[in-house]
Amino acid sequence: MSEQSATGRSVLVTGGNRGIGLAIAKEFLANGDKVAVTYRSVTELPEGILGVQADVTDEASLDAAFKQVEEAHGPVEVLVANAGVTKDTLLLRMSEDDFTSVIDTNLTGSFRVLKRAIKGMIRLRKGRVVFISSVVGLYGSPGQINYSASKSGLVGMARSLTRELGSRGITANVVAPGFINTDMTAELPEDTQKGYLASIPAGRFADPEEVARVVRWIAGDEAAYISGAVIPVDGGLGMGH
Ligand code: NDP
Repeated sequence: MSEQSATGRSVLVTGGNRGIGLAIAKEFLANGDKVAVTYRSVTELPEGILGVQADVTDEASLDAAFKQVEEAHGPVEVLVANAGVTKDTLLLRMSEDDFTSVIDTNLTGSFRVLKRAIKGMIRLRKGRVVFISSVVGLYGSPGQINYSASKSGLVGMARSLTRELGSRGITANVVAPGFINTDMTAELPEDTQKGYLASIPAGRFADPEEVARVVRWIAGDEAAYISGAVIPVDGGLGMGH
Protein backbone atom coordinates (compact mmCIF):
# COMPACT_ATOMS: atom_id res chain seq x y z
CA MET A 1 0.00 0.00 0.00
CA SER A 2 1.45 3.37 -0.94
CA GLU A 3 1.68 6.14 1.62
CA GLN A 4 -0.27 9.37 1.21
CA SER A 5 1.97 11.90 -0.56
CA ALA A 6 2.97 15.09 1.26
CA THR A 7 0.45 17.93 1.40
CA GLY A 8 0.26 21.27 3.22
CA ARG A 9 3.61 22.41 1.84
CA SER A 10 4.51 25.98 0.94
CA VAL A 11 4.58 26.00 -2.87
CA LEU A 12 5.64 28.92 -5.07
CA VAL A 13 5.07 29.02 -8.83
CA THR A 14 6.60 31.89 -10.80
CA GLY A 15 4.42 33.21 -13.60
CA GLY A 16 1.49 31.38 -12.07
CA ASN A 17 -1.19 33.87 -13.06
CA ARG A 18 -1.95 32.23 -16.42
CA GLY A 19 -1.11 29.38 -18.79
CA ILE A 20 0.93 26.43 -17.57
CA GLY A 21 1.88 28.16 -14.30
CA LEU A 22 -1.75 28.69 -13.29
CA ALA A 23 -2.59 25.06 -14.08
CA ILE A 24 0.35 23.97 -11.90
CA ALA A 25 -0.80 26.21 -9.05
CA LYS A 26 -4.33 24.76 -9.20
CA GLU A 27 -2.95 21.23 -9.21
CA PHE A 28 -0.97 21.83 -5.98
CA LEU A 29 -3.97 23.55 -4.42
CA ALA A 30 -6.10 20.49 -5.18
CA ASN A 31 -3.34 18.39 -3.57
CA GLY A 32 -3.86 20.30 -0.31
CA ASP A 33 -0.72 22.46 -0.47
CA LYS A 34 -0.42 26.17 0.41
CA VAL A 35 0.09 27.80 -2.95
CA ALA A 36 1.48 31.18 -3.96
CA VAL A 37 2.12 32.50 -7.46
CA THR A 38 4.04 35.46 -8.76
CA TYR A 39 2.40 37.75 -11.27
CA ARG A 40 3.46 40.94 -13.05
CA SER A 41 0.17 42.08 -14.48
CA VAL A 42 -2.81 42.16 -12.17
CA THR A 43 -5.02 39.15 -12.74
CA GLU A 44 -7.84 37.48 -10.93
CA LEU A 45 -6.66 34.32 -9.24
CA PRO A 46 -8.77 31.40 -8.08
CA GLU A 47 -9.75 31.47 -4.41
CA GLY A 48 -7.12 29.94 -2.17
CA ILE A 49 -4.10 30.97 -4.25
CA LEU A 50 -1.94 33.79 -2.88
CA GLY A 51 -0.76 36.22 -5.54
CA VAL A 52 2.47 38.14 -5.02
CA GLN A 53 3.74 40.70 -7.48
CA ALA A 54 7.25 40.08 -8.80
CA ASP A 55 9.35 40.29 -11.91
CA VAL A 56 11.96 37.54 -12.16
CA THR A 57 14.40 40.00 -13.74
CA ASP A 58 14.23 42.17 -10.61
CA GLU A 59 15.87 40.72 -7.50
CA ALA A 60 14.34 43.25 -5.09
CA SER A 61 10.79 42.50 -6.24
CA LEU A 62 11.48 38.78 -5.83
CA ASP A 63 12.80 39.28 -2.31
CA ALA A 64 9.68 41.24 -1.34
CA ALA A 65 7.46 38.52 -2.86
CA PHE A 66 9.30 35.75 -0.99
CA LYS A 67 8.90 37.65 2.28
CA GLN A 68 5.13 37.79 1.73
CA VAL A 69 4.98 34.08 0.94
CA GLU A 70 7.14 33.13 3.93
CA GLU A 71 4.95 35.19 6.24
CA ALA A 72 1.73 33.65 4.95
CA HIS A 73 2.79 30.06 4.26
CA GLY A 74 6.26 29.51 5.74
CA PRO A 75 9.50 28.87 3.84
CA VAL A 76 9.07 27.69 0.27
CA GLU A 77 9.44 23.92 0.13
CA VAL A 78 8.38 23.44 -3.50
CA LEU A 79 9.65 25.92 -6.07
CA VAL A 80 8.40 25.82 -9.64
CA ALA A 81 10.43 28.15 -11.87
CA ASN A 82 7.92 28.56 -14.67
CA ALA A 83 8.03 32.22 -15.78
CA GLY A 84 9.23 32.42 -19.34
CA VAL A 85 9.15 34.42 -22.54
CA THR A 86 9.96 33.99 -26.23
CA LYS A 87 11.38 36.48 -28.70
CA ASP A 88 11.62 34.37 -31.83
CA THR A 89 13.54 35.41 -34.90
CA LEU A 90 16.18 33.89 -37.17
CA LEU A 91 19.79 34.26 -36.10
CA LEU A 92 20.66 36.80 -38.79
CA ARG A 93 17.97 39.09 -37.45
CA MET A 94 18.44 38.34 -33.73
CA SER A 95 19.87 41.28 -31.81
CA GLU A 96 21.97 40.89 -28.71
CA ASP A 97 19.06 42.33 -26.75
CA ASP A 98 16.71 39.68 -28.20
CA PHE A 99 19.16 37.10 -26.89
CA THR A 100 20.03 38.51 -23.49
CA SER A 101 16.49 39.55 -22.55
CA VAL A 102 15.20 35.99 -23.05
CA ILE A 103 18.16 34.57 -21.11
CA ASP A 104 17.58 37.14 -18.35
CA THR A 105 13.98 36.00 -17.82
CA ASN A 106 14.14 32.26 -18.52
CA LEU A 107 17.59 31.30 -17.24
CA THR A 108 18.91 34.04 -14.95
CA GLY A 109 15.36 34.56 -13.63
CA SER A 110 15.27 30.88 -12.61
CA PHE A 111 18.66 31.30 -10.94
CA ARG A 112 17.39 34.34 -8.99
CA VAL A 113 14.35 32.52 -7.58
CA LEU A 114 16.40 29.42 -6.86
CA LYS A 115 19.00 31.46 -4.98
CA ARG A 116 16.29 33.15 -2.91
CA ALA A 117 14.50 29.88 -2.11
CA ILE A 118 17.41 27.58 -1.41
CA LYS A 119 18.47 28.76 2.07
CA GLY A 120 15.01 27.94 3.39
CA MET A 121 15.15 24.48 1.83
CA ILE A 122 18.59 23.81 3.31
CA ARG A 123 17.24 24.78 6.73
CA LEU A 124 14.21 22.56 6.27
CA ARG A 125 16.49 19.76 5.03
CA LYS A 126 14.01 19.11 2.26
CA GLY A 127 12.86 20.76 -0.91
CA ARG A 128 11.66 20.26 -4.46
CA VAL A 129 12.84 22.41 -7.33
CA VAL A 130 11.15 22.04 -10.69
CA PHE A 131 12.34 24.02 -13.70
CA ILE A 132 9.92 24.38 -16.59
CA SER A 133 12.08 24.00 -19.67
CA SER A 134 10.90 23.06 -23.18
CA VAL A 135 11.35 20.28 -25.71
CA VAL A 136 13.30 22.77 -27.84
CA GLY A 137 15.94 23.11 -25.11
CA LEU A 138 17.56 19.87 -26.21
CA TYR A 139 15.85 19.33 -29.60
CA GLY A 140 16.62 22.79 -30.98
CA SER A 141 14.35 24.95 -33.07
CA PRO A 142 15.03 27.39 -35.93
CA GLY A 143 14.25 30.95 -34.88
CA GLN A 144 14.68 30.12 -31.19
CA ILE A 145 18.43 30.26 -30.57
CA ASN A 146 17.85 32.52 -27.55
CA TYR A 147 14.94 30.50 -26.15
CA SER A 148 16.47 27.04 -26.65
CA ALA A 149 19.79 28.19 -25.12
CA SER A 150 17.88 29.49 -22.08
CA LYS A 151 15.91 26.27 -21.74
CA SER A 152 18.85 23.85 -22.12
CA GLY A 153 20.70 25.93 -19.51
CA LEU A 154 18.06 24.84 -17.00
CA VAL A 155 19.17 21.23 -17.44
CA GLY A 156 22.72 22.10 -16.38
CA MET A 157 21.32 24.10 -13.48
CA ALA A 158 19.15 21.24 -12.21
CA ARG A 159 21.97 18.71 -12.55
CA SER A 160 24.56 20.88 -10.81
CA LEU A 161 22.08 21.63 -8.05
CA THR A 162 21.44 17.91 -7.68
CA ARG A 163 25.16 17.26 -7.26
CA GLU A 164 25.59 20.21 -4.90
CA LEU A 165 22.59 19.69 -2.61
CA GLY A 166 21.24 16.24 -3.36
CA SER A 167 22.37 14.99 0.05
CA ARG A 168 20.19 17.60 1.84
CA GLY A 169 16.84 16.10 0.92
CA ILE A 170 16.51 18.46 -2.03
CA THR A 171 15.68 17.27 -5.54
CA ALA A 172 15.91 19.34 -8.72
CA ASN A 173 14.25 18.26 -11.93
CA VAL A 174 13.34 19.66 -15.30
CA VAL A 175 9.96 19.27 -16.94
CA ALA A 176 10.15 19.78 -20.69
CA PRO A 177 6.76 20.43 -22.29
CA GLY A 178 6.15 20.16 -26.00
CA PHE A 179 3.36 22.13 -27.63
CA ILE A 180 0.84 23.26 -24.99
CA ASN A 181 -2.27 25.34 -25.69
CA THR A 182 -1.55 28.70 -23.99
CA ASP A 183 -1.16 32.38 -24.92
CA MET A 184 2.48 31.66 -25.83
CA THR A 185 1.59 29.17 -28.56
CA ALA A 186 -1.57 30.99 -29.66
CA GLU A 187 0.78 33.72 -30.93
CA LEU A 188 2.45 31.35 -33.43
CA PRO A 189 1.41 31.62 -37.09
CA GLU A 190 -1.05 28.94 -38.27
CA ASP A 191 1.53 27.41 -40.64
CA THR A 192 4.01 26.95 -37.78
CA GLN A 193 1.30 25.34 -35.65
CA LYS A 194 0.41 22.94 -38.50
CA GLY A 195 4.11 22.07 -38.91
CA TYR A 196 4.41 21.18 -35.23
CA LEU A 197 1.22 19.14 -35.28
CA ALA A 198 2.52 17.05 -38.18
CA SER A 199 5.70 16.18 -36.28
CA ILE A 200 4.12 15.24 -32.93
CA PRO A 201 3.63 11.45 -32.69
CA ALA A 202 0.61 11.94 -30.41
CA GLY A 203 -1.02 13.93 -33.22
CA ARG A 204 -2.31 16.66 -30.93
CA PHE A 205 -1.32 19.56 -28.73
CA ALA A 206 -1.72 19.26 -24.96
CA ASP A 207 -3.56 21.22 -22.32
CA PRO A 208 -1.66 22.91 -19.45
CA GLU A 209 -3.21 20.47 -16.94
CA GLU A 210 -1.28 17.61 -18.57
CA VAL A 211 1.99 19.37 -17.64
CA ALA A 212 0.68 20.32 -14.19
CA ARG A 213 -0.03 16.73 -13.17
CA VAL A 214 3.56 15.71 -13.98
CA VAL A 215 4.96 18.65 -12.02
CA ARG A 216 2.84 17.72 -8.99
CA TRP A 217 4.05 14.14 -9.23
CA ILE A 218 7.77 15.00 -9.59
CA ALA A 219 7.44 17.26 -6.53
CA GLY A 220 5.77 14.55 -4.48
CA ASP A 221 6.99 11.77 -2.20
CA GLU A 222 6.63 9.13 -4.92
CA ALA A 223 9.43 10.87 -6.85
CA ALA A 224 11.81 11.39 -3.90
CA TYR A 225 14.58 9.37 -5.59
CA ILE A 226 14.40 11.21 -8.93
CA SER A 227 16.76 14.16 -9.31
CA GLY A 228 18.55 15.79 -12.21
CA ALA A 229 16.06 14.24 -14.62
CA VAL A 230 14.48 15.78 -17.69
CA ILE A 231 10.87 14.66 -17.92
CA PRO A 232 9.32 15.21 -21.33
CA VAL A 233 5.62 16.06 -21.64
CA ASP A 234 5.60 16.40 -25.40
CA GLY A 235 3.54 13.65 -27.04
CA GLY A 236 6.78 12.04 -28.27
CA LEU A 237 8.10 15.08 -30.15
CA GLY A 238 11.54 15.12 -28.57
CA MET A 239 12.13 11.39 -27.99
CA GLY A 240 15.64 10.76 -26.74
CA HIS A 241 16.68 14.39 -26.61
P1 NDP B 1 2.41 32.28 -21.08
O1 NDP B 1 2.98 33.23 -22.07
O2 NDP B 1 0.98 31.89 -21.18
O3 NDP B 1 2.70 32.78 -19.58
C1 NDP B 1 3.99 33.18 -19.24
C2 NDP B 1 4.03 33.46 -17.76
O4 NDP B 1 5.35 33.88 -17.40
C3 NDP B 1 3.07 34.57 -17.35
O5 NDP B 1 2.54 34.29 -16.10
C4 NDP B 1 3.99 35.78 -17.29
O6 NDP B 1 3.54 36.79 -16.42
C5 NDP B 1 5.24 35.13 -16.73
N1 NDP B 1 6.42 35.96 -16.96
C6 NDP B 1 7.02 36.27 -18.12
N2 NDP B 1 8.08 37.08 -17.91
C7 NDP B 1 8.15 37.28 -16.57
C8 NDP B 1 9.00 38.03 -15.73
N3 NDP B 1 10.02 38.75 -16.21
N4 NDP B 1 8.78 37.99 -14.40
C9 NDP B 1 7.75 37.29 -13.89
N5 NDP B 1 6.90 36.58 -14.63
C10 NDP B 1 7.10 36.58 -15.96
O7 NDP B 1 3.35 31.01 -21.19
P2 NDP B 1 3.09 29.45 -20.94
O8 NDP B 1 2.15 29.24 -19.83
O9 NDP B 1 2.84 28.84 -22.26
O10 NDP B 1 4.56 29.02 -20.51
C11 NDP B 1 4.96 28.80 -19.18
C12 NDP B 1 6.35 28.19 -19.21
O11 NDP B 1 6.32 26.99 -19.97
C13 NDP B 1 7.39 29.09 -19.88
O12 NDP B 1 8.61 28.98 -19.21
C14 NDP B 1 7.50 28.51 -21.27
O13 NDP B 1 8.74 28.77 -21.84
C15 NDP B 1 7.29 27.04 -21.00
N6 NDP B 1 6.84 26.26 -22.14
C16 NDP B 1 5.65 26.53 -22.78
C17 NDP B 1 5.27 25.74 -23.84
C18 NDP B 1 3.99 25.94 -24.57
O14 NDP B 1 3.78 25.23 -25.56
N7 NDP B 1 3.11 26.81 -24.16
C19 NDP B 1 6.11 24.66 -24.34
C20 NDP B 1 7.31 24.47 -23.60
C21 NDP B 1 7.65 25.24 -22.54
P3 NDP B 1 2.60 38.01 -16.98
O15 NDP B 1 1.20 37.46 -17.08
O16 NDP B 1 2.73 39.03 -15.94
O17 NDP B 1 3.16 38.39 -18.32
